[in-house]
Amino acid sequence: MPERQTRICAVITEPTVAEARAAMQRAAETADMIELRLDYLRDFDFNEPDGLSALLDGKPLPVIVTCRAVDEGGQQKINEAARLRLLATSLQRGADYCDIEAAHYNEAAAAQLDASRLIVSYHNFSETPDYLTTIYERLIRLPAAVHKITVRANDISDSLEVFRLLDHAAAARRPLIAIAMQEAGLLTRILGPSRGSFLTFGSTARGHESAPGQLTCDELRYLYDIQRLSRDTRIVGIIGKPVSHSASPLMHNRAFRERGLDFVYLPFEVNEVGEFFRRFVYPATREIDWQLRGFSVTIPHKTAVIPFLDEMDETAQQIGAVNTVVVEGDRLIGYNTDAHGAIAPLAAITDLQGAPCAVIGAGGSARAVVYGLLERGARVSLFARNPAKAAALADEFGIAVDHLDAIAESDAEIIINTTPVGMMNHNEGESSIPRAAWRNRRIAYDLIYNPLETRFLADAREQSCLTLSGIEMLAAQAARQFELWTGHKPPVELLRAAALEKVSPPK
Ligand code: NAP
Repeated sequence: MPERQTRICAVITEPTVAEARAAMQRAAETADMIELRLDYLRDFDFNEPDGLSALLDGKPLPVIVTCRAVDEGGQQKINEAARLRLLATSLQRGADYCDIEAAHYNEAAAAQLDASRLIVSYHNFSETPDYLTTIYERLIRLPAAVHKITVRANDISDSLEVFRLLDHAAAARRPLIAIAMQEAGLLTRILGPSRGSFLTFGSTARGHESAPGQLTCDELRYLYDIQRLSRDTRIVGIIGKPVSHSASPLMHNRAFRERGLDFVYLPFEVNEVGEFFRRFVYPATREIDWQLRGFSVTIPHKTAVIPFLDEMDETAQQIGAVNTVVVEGDRLIGYNTDAHGAIAPLAAITDLQGAPCAVIGAGGSARAVVYGLLERGARVSLFARNPAKAAALADEFGIAVDHLDAIAESDAEIIINTTPVGMMNHNEGESSIPRAAWRNRRIAYDLIYNPLETRFLADAREQSCLTLSGIEMLAAQAARQFELWTGHKPPVELLRAAALEKVSPPK
């Protein structure tokens, strides 16, 4: 066997031979290996193995040839004898490995396929069975160079079973590919190779995935930088549901790389906070041996995490929500960087002491904004569509509350929108306040960052107000998190540029 090394394997799922050949050449830019999925091809004669030369001659990287059976996720029905002949021929025509499903591994397969270049695979598209070790023990009885187990993660804790298998195989020096599909299994795709997986699969582009949750080769190499990861790498991430839309992985991973820090930031799709803390976080009970340094907390877990922490800083206590957890030895400390993140960009352009400010909305981020403004000595009033509901927040902080319609009569110089009105895919193009309300104001601040220019900000700009978008808060709160986890000065401009790139990717 070649020595263990991180391998990104690009899965070729093109519909034609010509496109597959072109995709293989492109894959060489980011991947270390290629899996050629013959069953995706629509112009290939499966009864004519000579056609393989057109795909394998001039291959730019080592190639695994796979022709999946339909009952194991294959894309079309192919005669079983023809499938086997193709796999056997592929090894003669230059493929480095071929892959056959354990469920189809019979005497004929054993006779025709060279076990020293064979991958035998098990797939479960509905769950991660709790008898996975038994499945593994049975699988490795079939002679092969590499064994492969792919299961569906219905919960992030299913990833633990996959990591256990990888540890088990590594201890026996047995090459194994083990992956949990779906968003809940993402960490197995990213951390797998650093924990012994023979390879991790990546798609050649978005929309070309061969399995749910598959990242692109570019993401594996440039976003998660997986070649650099080891068991010593400090792990941080974001817990929430959903988490796949988050800009934080791009921001933090860029910052870690720029500062040369051995950290990686991962998305953790968490259903149940208590279970996550018990099985992944508490040093005394966690079931994974990793260097967890902390995590961001997002919707819907910002208050749910509180009972599981040992300590909370003053700001998090006052706001009653935690968006950052730091693991300090065996203690878990909760912070709230949203208040700092929301106010720092505003304080950078104006003196808030005594400044009359109107906060629109009374939800989670309004709490952080109100707290931050009061801390800076601003004079704050709250405007909400449902003032009775908003009264609890106003009473808690001792500020006035009124109906949204009253905003026009307010003397506020600074107006801050904390509602989702105007967000992309959420009444985009609308504003939480009427255009006329902008007369004689100084600053407009919208916490929304997508789109960057909301109707709220456009109306304010028309009246010559200074404007700030939510991208500033996003970068500033991340900067504080970076500092809490790493102890290093944060690269604020880089974090901001990464956030901008996420919101408006380069064409
Ligand atoms: P939240 O807790 O759900 O609060 C939303 C608030 O907006 C509630 O008070 C809600 O009123 C009000 N609201 C909703 N729809 C409204 C409408 N059509 N008209 C008037 N008021 C309306 O949400 P959140 O966590 O505070 O987040 C709010 C926004 O802030 C989101 O758009 C998010 O993108 C943005 N945000 C940005 C950052 C950043 O880093 N830039 C960070 C956090 C949040 P009711 O109580 O009556 O429903």
